[in-house]
Amino acid sequence: MLDLGNRVSIYQPEQPGLKFPEEPAFNSPEEQRLDRKKRLVAACRAFAVHGLDYGFAGHLTIRDPERPELYWTNPMAVHFEQVALSNLILVDHEGTVIEGDYAVNRAGFVLHAAVHEEHPDILAMCHAHSLYGTAFASLGRPLEPITQDACAFFEDHAVIREDAGAVAVEDDAGPRIAKAFEGVKAAVHQNHGLFTASRHSIDSAAFWFIALERCCHQQLMVDASGHKPIQVPPESARYSREHVGSEYIGWLHFQPIYQQLAARSPEMFQ
Ligand SMILES: [Zn+2]
Repeated sequence: MLDLGNRVSIYQPEQPGLKFPEEPAFNSPEEQRLDRKKRLVAACRAFAVHGLDYGFAGHLTIRDPERPELYWTNPMAVHFEQVALSNLILVDHEGTVIEGDYAVNRAGFVLHAAVHEEHPDILAMCHAHSLYGTAFASLGRPLEPITQDACAFFEDHAVIREDAGAVAVEDDAGPRIAKAFEGVKAAVHQNHGLFTASRHSIDSAAFWFIALERCCHQQLMVDASGHKPIQVPPESARYSREHVGSEYIGWLHFQPIYQQLAARSPEMFQ
């Protein structure tokens, strides 16, 4: 499940003196806020790289460190590739923009706000109308543990069938959907698309979204082959999930993505 303590793992053996990503520490809320905003920007840019855009659909959120009832998110109708520090917006539960010059996608934000409100432990969320995720969501079933990567989501994602296919503009749709996020890091909303949530970081939420989209792609490819895939047995799938599916591992996977984007597009931090 969502194991924040699983930091010492097979991916972090004792290798004193060698370079390895370290989780940042902060001296002030301002520093932490700037770091969260930079990582949110990088997550949006990563979504562009992975082709997860669909018009203005898609939103990523991270709580403000000092005012956790407020969320930083990407501006409406700005391409993921053009999201930068300067155009992020700070939004409240009602979808009112508190800080920033751009509008918020209210229809989409209803679900994010509801999940954040229902689950105070959830720090960050991602949602997009990605190609394979939306296609897989039409099947209304969970991912099967057919690869080591898919095992990361074994018994750690929900299939939400409520309000399937209806645009969630009404305030009452959000709370019904939010309950499904209890104790899991992802959800497949039938006839709609994918959501990921993190109790750790936007890094983790973004990486698990990219991973979930890839798993949906793999599942659809295997289904289309007409062959019956061999399933990883439940015990092994659980063991794999503990080792490759934790919040820390999601965060760690995002670090090379962050470093590459920061080197390639330094203007995103302006
Ligand atoms: Zn949507």
